[in-house]
Amino acid sequence: MRIPFFTDWNERRKLRNEFSYLALDAFYKALDDIDALEAKVEAEREKAANAIVQAKVTALAHRAMNHAVAEFAELFDNSDLAADQAGGFKCAEVEALAALLAAAGRPAAGEMWLEFHKVDEADGLEENAEVIEDAEVVAG
Ligand SMILES: [Zn+2]
Repeated sequence: MRIPFFTDWNERRKLRNEFSYLALDAFYKALDDIDALEAKVEAEREKAANAIVQAKVTALAHRAMNHAVAEFAELFDNSDLAADQAGGFKCAEVEALAALLAAAGRPAAGEMWLEFHKVDEADGLEENAEVIEDAEVVAG
């Protein structure tokens, strides 16, 4: 702001003070704005750092899970084991086992478990039918 030279001394001093006050006021407002922006930037930086940590934790958990599933699949992709054990599982259990093997990249092993389970179940039904027939013969 330009102060005309013909203004008297008191008036000039008053205007100068007013100008100084306005300039300082704008300066401090600008500092406040900068502080607010820096706080926002810092908050975003913190969010990004947390996201990176979270992503690393998730990646580690996935790696551990994949490793465990691969090991499980390796052990359960075994026809002797399936032949011995498939009949001992309930339908939902052997289906879950088959789904896990399929997800681990061994769908044939899953099918094998389902087949052994079916065969065992059919034998069980035959036995049951024989027991029922015998019971009817005895009762009749
Ligand atoms: Zn069943």
